Order: sequence, then structure tokens, then C-alpha cells
Amino acid sequence: MELFKFCRVCLAHCKSKMKTINGTLIVVESVCVNGHSRTWSSQPLSGEMPWGNLLCSASILFSGSSPAKAISFLRHMGVLTMSKRTYHRIQEAYLIPVVSGVWKSQQQHLFNSVCGTEKLVLGGDGRCDSPGHNAKYGCYSLMDLHSKKVLEVQLVQVSSSNCLPSESNLPKFINVLFKNIIVKI
Ligand SMILES: [Zn+2]
Repeated sequence: MELFKFCRVCLAHCKSKMKTINGTLIVVESVCVNGHSRTWSSQPLSGEMPWGNLLCSASILFSGSSPAKAISFLRHMGVLTMSKRTYHRIQEAYLIPVVSGVWKSQQQHLFNSVCGTEKLVLGGDGRCDSPGHNAKYGCYSLMDLHSKKVLEVQLVQVSSSNCLPSESNLPKFINVLFKNIIVKI
């Protein structure tokens, strides 16, 4: 609070207090003996959302970090940060919709680029998150082998230990994607 010790107008002594702490944001209020008051925010806000909370949450998600560890790391350093609960609220309200929107737009761009292709050659592979042979769900990707770009990723129910989508899933998987394209697998 040293920085708020003197009035910026008349240089008289000020009484300062921390008015708000909201995640990465602090707001300090100071009043001098001559009645000059000043409110200082550590960062800009969008409505009531401090930009730092959004940027910090986005950085954690987009860098693939663990929210719990990243937040714990900042707290150990003594850096103000948001709670895990706030992180998850921001993730749900802002970050996931943005990721989803960008993915859909990019995917549509990819579909448009392969639409004129006479023969589309696809390669698929899946992975499961549990070791051994008992995973129930897996992530299955389809790639255009010419452009080497992933056209679709889906969470599928695994039919057996080889992490392939079940037979009932696969035709639907492809039909949804390439109704009007000649497919050679
Ligand atoms: Zn003053």
C-alpha cells in the first residue's frame, strides 16, 4: 500500500484500503486529509469480469495445464488468482464455446475443401484413456490421408480391446460427415 500513501493531487497523506479482491483483481480506495479520493483497479474489467481472470483461465486451458496445479503454483508464489470454481465457471461460459465455435468453423472449411475431391482417402485411429482392455469409451479420429488433416474427432463406445468404434457407430460416423462424397476406406 506504499504507492497509495500520498495524494496525487495535493501530496498529503492518504488513508488507503483494499476495497475489492476478485481473483486476479484488486481495487484500492484512498482518501487524503483534504478529501481527494481515488479508486485504483489493478486491471480493466468487462462488466464485472476482470480481464485477468479470463486471460489466466484461457492460458491454463489452452496450454493444456492442470487447473488445480496451475492455481496452486500461483498461490505458492503469492500471486493472486481465481479459485478453481471460478476457473470452471469461466471455462464453461466462455472458453469451451469459443473452442467449439472455432473447431466447427475450421471443420466446415476442411469439408468445403474436400467437397470437390473425386476420391477421398481416409485413415482412422482411436485411443482410449484407460490402460488394459476394459475401456468403454475412446476418442476416434478420421484423417484425410492426402492433406493429412483431421476431419473429425468423436467420442465413441469401444467395441473391443482394439479401441475401434463399434460397428453400429462407424457407418453413422461416416455418413454424417460425407453424405455426398465418394469414400474409399
Ligand atoms: Zn489530496
